[in-house]
Amino acid sequence: MTLDLAAFAKDKGIKYFMISYTDLFGGQRAKLVPAEAIADMQKDGAGFAGFATWLDLTPAHPDLFAVPDASTVIQLPWKKDVAWVAADCVMDDQPVEQAPRVVLKRLVAEAAKEGLRVKTGVEPEFFLISADGSVISDQFDTAEKPCYDQQAVMRRYDVIAEICDYMLELGWKPYQNDHEDANGQFEMNWEYDDALQTADKHSFFKFMVKSVAEKHGLRATFMPKPFKGLTGNGCHAHISVWDIDGKVNAFADKEMPFGLSAQGKTFLGGIMKHASALAAITNPTVNSYKRINAPRTTSGATWSPNTVTWTGNNRTHMVRVPGPGRFELRLPDGAVNPYLLQAIIIAAGLDGIRSQADPGRHYDIDMYAEGHLVKDAPRLPLNLLDALRAYDADEGLRAAIGAEFSAAYLKLKHQEWNAYCSHFTQWERDSTLDI
Ligand code: ADP
Ligand code: MG
Ligand code: MG
Ligand code: MG
Ligand code: MG
Repeated sequence: MTLDLAAFAKDKGIKYFMISYTDLFGGQRAKLVPAEAIADMQKDGAGFAGFATWLDLTPAHPDLFAVPDASTVIQLPWKKDVAWVAADCVMDDQPVEQAPRVVLKRLVAEAAKEGLRVKTGVEPEFFLISADGSVISDQFDTAEKPCYDQQAVMRRYDVIAEICDYMLELGWKPYQNDHEDANGQFEMNWEYDDALQTADKHSFFKFMVKSVAEKHGLRATFMPKPFKGLTGNGCHAHISVWDIDGKVNAFADKEMPFGLSAQGKTFLGGIMKHASALAAITNPTVNSYKRINAPRTTSGATWSPNTVTWTGNNRTHMVRVPGPGRFELRLPDGAVNPYLLQAIIIAAGLDGIRSQADPGRHYDIDMYAEGHLVKDAPRLPLNLLDALRAYDADEGLRAAIGAEFSAAYLKLKHQEWNAYCSHFTQWERDSTLDI
């Protein structure tokens, strides 16, 4: 039965709902709707001018309605008057095919048609920085190897524990928090869930982390490579596929190498086959390519891949199989759109299952030290344009995630690349002025 949001408001003392949708660039867009008006909005949705956000629409398009999915509603733990609810985009009574949450729901349904249920966990790393965004917020956080720094994580206890307390309250089952490999960087982990639920939680997590950081006079950034020479913000995804009841892990097979079943291997085969193209989604910004393909950082390793390879429990490859029944895709970064991340994983994986894709040989080497020895695996795209071209050239992947979505995404992302190219940089002047 659908939850009645008006009744929920009465019960919880909620004054406003944020009806929120995510655009193609991952931006979260919301209207604040008083509880008195939520009953109609729950039925009809809140109206938006879609062109004013990152969707491929014109100012002449009719209203875009964001229709709340009441099952996602969350009373903001840090502002109990307000509740957030994820919404699906509708126009002229039809789902907007390019809208990321619509795209993901369609792929979840396609997996279900094959009797499969994709469950994932994400690790969205972030930095706590000064409010103006220029430096990390803790001037004493300067260690060369700052990962798991006990003293530094405790200097940010107020922020980290507040966020973790909220996750406990929401029943997300968080299980660890740490200082990550860059100065000023943190990671918080909670339990994996069905792909759509993970995407909703991932979106809300970003909103929550930014809000709590602001409350403490700081700023949180998920930017892929905010500081030159420091490890960037990854957003690894752990992936397993289950039967439709979610009881039997179809990826687990103790008899197989790394405990990954034959079906799991073909799903992985799909990810490997489409890796260069799907980077356009998992690494969606100009800045993303300063995280992958990066030179060694001050901590000694980038922890991000540059080549399409997979392996067992070894963090120097694009895909790691850490234990039986799941694998970790280490390619995505903090700029990834939470819905498109899940959608592209399912699209590539299902294509892999359907085409019985072979993930190829696994390399059990230290890629940072010996990567140059690998001759038969593609290098990941070197920049956003490379990735967009790979995506454009990958007809199978474009169709698997949706033709209408793909066309809209490519159009807007090419515009972004062109905007970047028309930007004049200091580097250009320094290297060209006296030529
Ligand atoms: P690491 O840093 O070692 O890569 P983390 O503990 O930070 O790992 O994150 C692991 C993520 O994988 C968590 O979100 C966890 O819930 C998730 N996970 C664990 N088992 C599975 C599984 N079978 N399927 C999908 N995700 C899983
Ligand atoms: Mg107006
Ligand atoms: Mg982790
Ligand atoms: Mg990490
Ligand atoms: Mg990881």
